[in-house]
Amino acid sequence: MTQSTIGRVGQVKEITSLSNPVIKDIRALGQKKNRDRSSSFMAEGLKLIIDALDQGWRIQTLVYAKDAKGSANVDSVAARTVAAGGLVLEVPQKVLGAITRRDNPQMVCGVFEQRYAALKDLHPKAGETYVALDRVRDPGNLGTIIRTADAAGASGVILIGDSTDPFSLETIRATMGSIFAVPVARSDIAGFLKWRDGKDALLVGTHLEGAVDYRMIDYTASPAILLMGNEQAGLPPALAERCDRLARIPQSGRADSLNLAVATAVMLFEARRHLLEV
Ligand code: SAM
Repeated sequence: MTQSTIGRVGQVKEITSLSNPVIKDIRALGQKKNRDRSSSFMAEGLKLIIDALDQGWRIQTLVYAKDAKGSANVDSVAARTVAAGGLVLEVPQKVLGAITRRDNPQMVCGVFEQRYAALKDLHPKAGETYVALDRVRDPGNLGTIIRTADAAGASGVILIGDSTDPFSLETIRATMGSIFAVPVARSDIAGFLKWRDGKDALLVGTHLEGAVDYRMIDYTASPAILLMGNEQAGLPPALAERCDRLARIPQSGRADSLNLAVATAVMLFEARRHLLEV
């Protein structure tokens, strides 16, 4: 995958064949190595693409189904793509289905430049909450967490260690567009702890053996960083030992633990309860 095919200077092309090199390159974005190499990713759906453009994300290629031609919204995003120097492709529905691996594809999809926030640029302030995820593995969990962080008004998500790719199609789908609204940073454990050391923020780890009921923590006094453990292994000691609080969500019944995304949602809405109004 190279910039030579995806993201060429503004033009509109009709493509009908799956063997077209631009289409092949877009389909190759299904693999992480190709996303990494081109630093791009794919997002589906008109609303999502409009949101992304409104929030200043750089579109490289817009693909729309021939049947969608003439729709005012599609014409508008096509014009915005061309104005941004991107490529616009008009394709049959079957090509769109092959690109997005769906039987009933959305009428529009876009290839965007990836964007990570730099951890050093995140400065937790009063009223802010961050979510830090230790080695999150499941794309659906990560996407759901980014979406939930957005809904709860969190200021960012920090990926610690070897995490699933926030720009995979599955994660992007699960974010429902929140990937374009919530800054996502990444770090190793040492970098995360170093960043956190200089901050006046409460680091709340979540642990099945946490000593504190999550509802008993004062989240109002300073910004909070909610640290969540890996789906299989939970939080490693290197992180758990450095937390200001180790919180537990009390459970009853037979389940050993909550799903990671569910536990994150419970924590986020409790930590931000005083800031959310109906
Ligand atoms: N077997 C893992 C363990 O021993 O920690 C279970 C991990 S759980 C599926 C994933 C993460 O969700 C945990 O590391 C923790 O951050 C959070 N979590 C799930 N249930 C929780 C609970 N009842 N209290 C606190 N955190 C919880």
